[in-house]
Order: sequence, then structure tokens, then C-alpha cells
Amino acid sequence: MYDELTAVELAEALTRVRQLAPEMTGPLSMVDEATLGWSLRYPQLTQPQQAFSQARSRQWPRTRTEQTWQEVITTADALAAALRELGDVRLARCAAPTGWGSCRRVLAEQGAPCTSQEHLGSDSQTVVSS
Ligand SMILES: [Zn+2]
Repeated sequence: MYDELTAVELAEALTRVRQLAPEMTGPLSMVDEATLGWSLRYPQLTQPQQAFSQARSRQWPRTRTEQTWQEVITTADALAAALRELGDVRLARCAAPTGWGSCRRVLAEQGAPCTSQEHLGSDSQTVVSS
């Protein structure tokens, strides 16, 4: 899953976006969601992430053109470049149990407390996976 990728690996996934067919909106959506988590942790990714997100949101059948597809590729490359600068790091996510598995919320930094209200039990210890 994209959740488990390092910054460099996620950058590779973004670089491979150009090999997709333009009508493949599912993978774009997953990459968008994965990179959104990174922009919560690393503010320098916010702008390129939003640009990619807006470009891919125009890839629906009725709004899609050759130009919107080129914008997806261009913004994906810019976001990939920003991710590569972070290097071989993983995003810290909360591993506390919830009703549907583990929380997975992106943490502001390694060891930071999770503010989610979805954890099971009132005094469950927040455990960080890296
Ligand atoms: Zn949590």
C-alpha cells in the first residue's frame, strides 16, 4: 500500500503516473491521498500537493483533455521532486487500535501524541509505527 512507502518510493509512484492511461483515475486518487498525508507532516509539500490534487481532479471524463493530462504529469513531477528531497524517510503514523484496524493517522512528528478520538478504549496508549 502507498501508506508504507518512503518519500523516495512515493516519488517513484508519482513518476510512473505518466505511464497510466489518462482515464485511470483510481490510481491518481490513491497517490493523491497518500501524498496528502505527507503534506500534513512536511509543509513544503503543501503547495505542490495541492497543485497535483487540483490537476488530477480535472481528469474526470467530462473535463479531461490532453492539456489536463499534461498538467497531471507536470504537477506529479514537481511533487515527486519535493518528496525526493526528503530522502529515505517514512511517515510516522499512529498504530493505536480503532474499530476498523489501526488508526494510521499521520503524526506531526515521530513520537507526537495522536489527537484522534477513534481509538478503542479511553486510556489506550498511543504506539507509533515507523
Ligand atoms: Zn491515532
